[in-house]
Amino acid sequence: MTEKPPVLRINNARRGCTTDTRILARRGWLTYDVVVVGEDETIGYNPATGKNEWTPIVGLQHYGDAEVWKLQNSWFTAEVTPGHKWLVDQQVTVQTETACTECGREFATGRGMTKHRADVHGVLTPRRERFEEQLVATRDFKQSTRIYLSKPADLGDQLPITDDEAELIGWIFGDGYMEPSGPTIVQSKPEQVHYLRGFMAAHFPCGEYVREPEGPQTHRIYRWKLTSEFWCDLASRSKASKDDALNFVLSLSVSQREAFVRGFLSADGTRDPRTQNDRLGYAAFQVSGPVAEAIKVAAYLEGYRPDTRVKTEFDSDRFGMQPMECIGFRTPIVKGRNLPVVGTRTADVWGPTTTLGTWTARQDQEIFLTATDVRRRTSRPGLTSECSPSGR
Ligand SMILES: [Zn+2]
Repeated sequence: MTEKPPVLRINNARRGCTTDTRILARRGWLTYDVVVVGEDETIGYNPATGKNEWTPIVGLQHYGDAEVWKLQNSWFTAEVTPGHKWLVDQQVTVQTETACTECGREFATGRGMTKHRADVHGVLTPRRERFEEQLVATRDFKQSTRIYLSKPADLGDQLPITDDEAELIGWIFGDGYMEPSGPTIVQSKPEQVHYLRGFMAAHFPCGEYVREPEGPQTHRIYRWKLTSEFWCDLASRSKASKDDALNFVLSLSVSQREAFVRGFLSADGTRDPRTQNDRLGYAAFQVSGPVAEAIKVAAYLEGYRPDTRVKTEFDSDRFGMQPMECIGFRTPIVKGRNLPVVGTRTADVWGPTTTLGTWTARQDQEIFLTATDVRRRTSRPGLTSECSPSGR
């Protein structure tokens, strides 16, 4: 081995995200200075299950004056150090065949077999390309690298409610308004009205009320009011409140969360006709606030990249003076070629260490899965962390 000449790389060891980056914990989005190492947990990726789950925060690094790259395309922005890592599918070339098909000789490695076939038999063995799950540094992204900004989550919790009740709460969060005695769902879109008439009557004790359209309205307006006895019971089992919507979302099982999101998007969502996928084309509209925040996290937990656009137009009659947010459920995968570095600067950075090696970060409105940096003090299940020559 020849020694490499020393390369001047300023703050190369200082890896992480800018200090405005928050981490998702059970108690909400935390700045680095309030994280309690050894107590707080975040959501990270378990390669053994292919799902996101809670993972303990076992360390925290904070550095001043690190080199920071701004990665940006038309729909995603992040500021991290060049050495900061991500969960990716990296294209690797492999040859798993070790026996020569010409003479039958066995080799220790596929590479050895390939060389032998070329040298001895003059036969070219085509290289096999496949994608391998790895943690890869920003500076090691290749054109073909597929970066995962989210994975579906199974947080291992479950509320004592049915999936239908979880869906109902989705409708209430999306379309309902609260009165002291309980929530009322209001709907006038014919398709949703048709569905709700069946759904509500089949599962829940409630009254249905109809009002004829007035003025510019073209459709009859339907209201469903749950009985207060039923709502009292459901509220105590679900602890569902709009003010604490994030905690509610974090407490749901996989099927409960799926039902909740289905209800919410049916009530409040708009389908993008460009895509056939049930969810990818959906966007939810909500005034800024706890429900909008919870829906972003729900989208993330469902395996999507929540894409938040804050609308400048809003209906001050209906929503008051709060801005409207359009929360899209978008693909979580971005290719290296589509995530260029658009700027560099020097900034303070931080990063956690987690047992799984990944965590859930937030920079402004971007919510994304990302990797912990650092020397490994904990054993991780499975994922290799590859360093390859720089090349984007
Ligand atoms: Zn041979």
